[in-house]
Amino acid sequence: MKNISYWLDIPYTSRPSLKQDRETDVVVIGAGITGVSAAYHSVKAGFKTVLIERDVIASGSAGKNGGMVVEGLAIDFVEAEKQFGKEQAIEAWQRTIDAREYVVSLIESNNIACDFSRSGSLYVASESQDISTLQDELQARHHANFIGEIIPQFEPKKDTLLVANDCSLHPVKFVRGLAEIAEKAGLSVYEQTPALSFDVHTVTTPHGIIHAKKVVVAIESNKTDLTENYGIIKRELALVTEPLSDEDISALSWDKGGMFWNTGNNYIAVRKIGNRLFLNGSINLNPSEKDLLNAEEKIIERFLAFVQNPSKENLAVSHRWTGLLLYPTRNRPFITQQNGYYELFGNGGNGLTNGIMIGKLLVESFLGENIPDIYQD
Ligand SMILES: Cc1cc2nc3c(=O)[nH]c(=O)nc-3n(C[C@H](O)[C@H](O)[C@H](O)COP(=O)(O)OP(=O)(O)OC[C@H]3O[C@@H](n4cnc5c(N)ncnc54)[C@H](O)[C@@H]3O)c2cc1C
Repeated sequence: MKNISYWLDIPYTSRPSLKQDRETDVVVIGAGITGVSAAYHSVKAGFKTVLIERDVIASGSAGKNGGMVVEGLAIDFVEAEKQFGKEQAIEAWQRTIDAREYVVSLIESNNIACDFSRSGSLYVASESQDISTLQDELQARHHANFIGEIIPQFEPKKDTLLVANDCSLHPVKFVRGLAEIAEKAGLSVYEQTPALSFDVHTVTTPHGIIHAKKVVVAIESNKTDLTENYGIIKRELALVTEPLSDEDISALSWDKGGMFWNTGNNYIAVRKIGNRLFLNGSINLNPSEKDLLNAEEKIIERFLAFVQNPSKENLAVSHRWTGLLLYPTRNRPFITQQNGYYELFGNGGNGLTNGIMIGKLLVESFLGENIPDIYQD
């Protein structure tokens, strides 16, 4: 068993680190989903752009997630209506649908090889009393003209909410693929180049200072002085299994939706990756090896409660890793210029849509567009 992300366990040629001072229009700190999106859109918009990363591209949460490109927020739509009001909830939700479709268009128009699939997702009622939660959720989504249907899946037949348009991909291939397209368009990327400090126009790294017209900070769950104002950092545990046999994978008792997650507090997210399974659940912020083993056991048990196959003995974990999430207190991402530079925060568990979206919106604001109110500080 390897203690690294399954997605990062692929060959990679590193970019050089920064060894001299640079001048540029835009410098982006952090080559995760958000930073790569901001850098891609910036260079495509004609700005001279530099992207720096303290490690390598997609080594943060971008390389540690489930690769699920899904509509929705950190909360159910019913809850979003309560918290934001109907109009804003509809706008916030619709923007996640637009972001998912925008990700699809980025992949298609740039031919990014990232194992993309329109696999669909299922939201599963964990307990019989949660069936009404799903029905209320579906009804509220239908009232707002969002699609979805309740279908029985799993054994014994459980109610699930199917969103057929949700997608899955290989997150590292996607983010690195997008960075490569941006590099071809003129982006300069420096890896192993931490920002030691930054202000409105300057970023200091160990071997060079970058002077820029605009500084963009996209380091998400890595603390800045604003983090505590906007979100709570949480840790997630992720597992990928060894490939299951063809019999076991075809006997898995759900045929619609390549991925699922469930209602209630014992949350897990699951998806297929070929014949392997990805499983993910929460863990405490600073887990010991014992905590990791306990959490691994619990996640597998929760998964097995939904399916009859495979047997526990046939589920061998090949990769285990943890990653951080910044859960935004306001349940949506946003862009702030409170300190003069631009900070992009709060993608929560939906970075593959939110991060791409706010990176794009930021650059549109450089071109004179207004950042939508719901994403403003
Ligand atoms: C286990 C797990 C499962 C998840 N599943 C999903 C999923 O299925 N779908 C989904 O949409 N989202 C999922 N997420 C959430 C998603 O991964 C995050 O929302 C997303 O990665 C945030 O993107 P980001 O670019 O803002 O941050 P990151 O991807 O964390 O990128 C920040 C980058 O900044 C770099 N950095 C930090 N400090 C500095 C510095 N001082 N100088 C230079 N660089 C710096 C880091 O090294 C990192 O590369 C999951 C997250 C986890 C942990």
